[in-house]
Amino acid sequence: MNRARMKSVLSFVLGSRRDWHLSMPWLRLPSLSLHWLGPIAMVASVVAGWFAFAGTNGLNQASTFSMWIGSGSIVLMAWSFILAFRIRVLERFWGGLDSMYRGHRWAGALAIPAMFLHTAIEPRTKGADLVAGASKGVADAAEDLAETAELGLYALIAMSILRLVPYRWWKWTHKLFGVPFAFASWHFYTAQKPYDNASGWGIWFASFMLAGLVAWVGRVFVRDTVGQGAKYRVSSCEHIDTLTRLELEPVGKPLDFDAGQFAFLRLGKKGLAEPHPFTIASGPSRENLIFYIRHLGDWSDQLPTRDLVGTDVRIEGPYGEFEPLSHTHRHNVWIAGGVGLTPFLAALDELDATGPTPTVLYACKSAEGDPLVDLLHEAEADGKIDLRLFHSGERLTPDVLDVVFPDGMADHHVALCGPAGLVKDMAMGANARGSRSIETEDFDIRQGFGPDRSREIEKVRSGLRQLRPAT
Ligand SMILES: Cc1cc2nc3c(=O)[nH]c(=O)nc-3n(C[C@H](O)[C@H](O)[C@H](O)COP(=O)(O)OP(=O)(O)OC[C@H]3O[C@@H](n4cnc5c(N)ncnc54)[C@H](O)[C@@H]3O)c2cc1C
Repeated sequence: MNRARMKSVLSFVLGSRRDWHLSMPWLRLPSLSLHWLGPIAMVASVVAGWFAFAGTNGLNQASTFSMWIGSGSIVLMAWSFILAFRIRVLERFWGGLDSMYRGHRWAGALAIPAMFLHTAIEPRTKGADLVAGASKGVADAAEDLAETAELGLYALIAMSILRLVPYRWWKWTHKLFGVPFAFASWHFYTAQKPYDNASGWGIWFASFMLAGLVAWVGRVFVRDTVGQGAKYRVSSCEHIDTLTRLELEPVGKPLDFDAGQFAFLRLGKKGLAEPHPFTIASGPSRENLIFYIRHLGDWSDQLPTRDLVGTDVRIEGPYGEFEPLSHTHRHNVWIAGGVGLTPFLAALDELDATGPTPTVLYACKSAEGDPLVDLLHEAEADGKIDLRLFHSGERLTPDVLDVVFPDGMADHHVALCGPAGLVKDMAMGANARGSRSIETEDFDIRQGFGPDRSREIEKVRSGLRQLRPAT
């Protein structure tokens, strides 16, 4: 391979420095809410396990730690599967599905170093007061399986965090995580421990392992395979530049949802059946659902090339706890960038001139010919919102908040949706200016590092398909 080609291959794989940017979690003054219960329960369930191992006769500190951290790894993995199952009732304890997916990623990510520590610090069990979980032969075989599973887990995690693996392939590798979890659980169950499997601690850990496995099987073999959700049909479809507006009419009972919620759409067309999450951009009082979809990758790029009117659609949801509008605060502030405007469009649909008048700060590439900007102008003309547009290079930064809200933001409910950097900066800005009611919605469920090459890979794939002789 010559130098120039080598350079272009490397730049394809490595991308730019921005692609590897590590975004640190941002901290703000917490306000007490039910949303903390989920994360607290997750951390507490790992910490509580310590008491199953501490104080065991004949077990030194390092061995106690090793056993506990191994149990922590299993409990975290179980949480990761439970959260990915999308149990709607859990949303209120986590603050929406996007936060549950954040919990899912953190639980999965922390389970890996926990497992590494468990295997790196071999527990010394000789002479300790331990109970066998199974015969020595079975326990040894389970340990061997768990060691193989550990390697598989590292490989799967690498694929999971590298964006180079396109979403539609990543999704399949992601489904395999249940296999190493099953092996690790079997090892944990059969290994020597300070308690009997039929004791209180035995039942405690077995419940996590079982719940994790049931959630994995339910997600992968039931929810992802059996087409489910409300039945709709595409009644109109418009493509405007890099945006598609889909209108769906119900075929049966319409979906019951709140403004700001989203749903997973599964289109009944070859190549489009993979479920994708989109915010419902029409108000709950309308019968038809409207979605605005930005062409961002291999799935959404196909929309303008397909004839979609009349296509059957399955809608799984609604999900999300994002509340654009608060009736208990004096002011409502909506901050959005690009297609992040969609949750606010649903709320706009429900606003009338007598209700609250949100101040809308909207950033977009160009105001010319953007249908989303047209909708905002219409709402402004009807007196529903106070609009501040930032386009054609004008930057929406936290300094703007000082100009728009010179008296601070103490009694302001601030809802934000859009590019991660914009949302983080503006939310921190609003928090620093006194707002304690901040809602954010995350449009990126997967996250990860490195360049996203799904478009380029799809182009190569479709080129290869065309080369194949017709049968
Ligand atoms: C809660 C939520 C609400 C959203 N609302 C809107 C909206 O109203 N309008 C809009 O244009 N976009 C919305 N998105 C983003 C939209 O889901 C992705 O842009 C779209 O799925 C990209 O798919 P793609 O294959 O074309 O692009 P890709 O290049 O394949 O994917 C780009 C990124 O989108 C995410 N993604 C891709 N496929 C899926 C999938 N099947 N499930 C989950 N995430 C996926 C991944 O993070 C991926 O890295 C929303 C996302 C979320 C999580």
